[in-house]
Amino acid sequence: MEFHLDRKFANAAWAQEAESIVRKCVHCGFCNATCPTYQLLGDEADGPRGRIYLVKQLLEGQPASAQARLHLDRCLLCRSCETTCPSGVPYARLLETGRQMLEQQQPRSGLDWLKRKLMTTLIPRNRLMQAAVSLARPLRAFLPRALASQLPTAGKDLQRPQRVHARRMLLLEGCAQAALTPETNAAAARVLDRLGITLVPEARPGCCGAVRLHTSARAQGLADIRRRIDTWWPDIEAGVEAIVSTASGCGVTLKDYGELLKDDPEYAGKARQVASLAVDIAEVIGAEITESAAWPKPARQLKVAFQSPCTLQHGQKLNGRVEALLSRAGFTLVPVADPHLCCGSAGTYSVLQAGLSAQLKADKLAKLLAHSPDVIATANVGCQLHLRKHAKLPVTHWIELLDTLEG
Ligand code: SF4
Ligand code: SF4
Repeated sequence: MEFHLDRKFANAAWAQEAESIVRKCVHCGFCNATCPTYQLLGDEADGPRGRIYLVKQLLEGQPASAQARLHLDRCLLCRSCETTCPSGVPYARLLETGRQMLEQQQPRSGLDWLKRKLMTTLIPRNRLMQAAVSLARPLRAFLPRALASQLPTAGKDLQRPQRVHARRMLLLEGCAQAALTPETNAAAARVLDRLGITLVPEARPGCCGAVRLHTSARAQGLADIRRRIDTWWPDIEAGVEAIVSTASGCGVTLKDYGELLKDDPEYAGKARQVASLAVDIAEVIGAEITESAAWPKPARQLKVAFQSPCTLQHGQKLNGRVEALLSRAGFTLVPVADPHLCCGSAGTYSVLQAGLSAQLKADKLAKLLAHSPDVIATANVGCQLHLRKHAKLPVTHWIELLDTLEG
């Protein structure tokens, strides 16, 4: 296919990168087969190949259109297409470029702008989130079920170990996770404590940048990243072994810090170092508890349906890791059909594309429940809260299951 980069972009590094991505695509269309929005809508423009074509048109100088925005907005950025693509097209990077071009040419307005503004103002601010949760908690009984299900579950163990080990890893506390599922990080700290590792809490918790980056507020997202780096730097200089994320959505962003700040002379080096230290909790546990190690067994047979978040399997390429850990620990994993498909959470997608998101959730829940599990486990706070709205059984982070095992 012919491609002529518009002359006004010819000297821009971002446009040259985008051009090379477009040229990598051979238009085979294999990716459409595993794209959730293409499967739902059956429209070429709602699949990866069609979206690549739309960004190509922008790069060639065609003006932004409402149609182009509609189709690019509908993308979940789940990256299932990247896993499928035989040519290794880094689709997500191109989509981000296309979205930024649209933002610059045609700023948002009305309800769309307002929704994004509210989310980028509330979610990344830990104190605001905590305050909102404190206000809502006493009203739980009067709230609609879907909203009440998003509040922290009562009676969870939030104790963190007091012992200090020689081995230290820094914990990314997160923003939504710290307020809505604080039990996850507490469980991670206890499990690592049993393995002789201290999980150091952040001095000033905050957002990793993902919320704003994925809500068309790139400059603010990059500012969040710089704040995280400044907060962590004393611990990094003091020699923490790793920076651990228990939310795969945050983890995938952390691992991308080096790329995101590569053009910032002040932060590029630090960002690369942070990215090299970033690990998902599954990587830490997997490295510490080997095949031959004796695992304490669950007190009773527990059937687990594991929902593998896109950010874990497609973003961080850690497909199968958690499932293997849970099986080795004695939990019974039930089969889940089409595990590569997104549950519809996708960061802020469940608010911004509520209709499509609800269809994907209903489909995912039907598949998760098909073999009558006792519990649904996942690895990302966004998916956990999204599924919890309508699941009729507990939805938990998998590290909490490991935490129930007695050594
Ligand atoms: S992105 Fe990959 S799988 Fe999709 S059409 Fe292009 S080359 Fe084929
Ligand atoms: S990122 Fe997901 S929703 Fe977007 S085009 Fe790729 S497979 Fe489809």
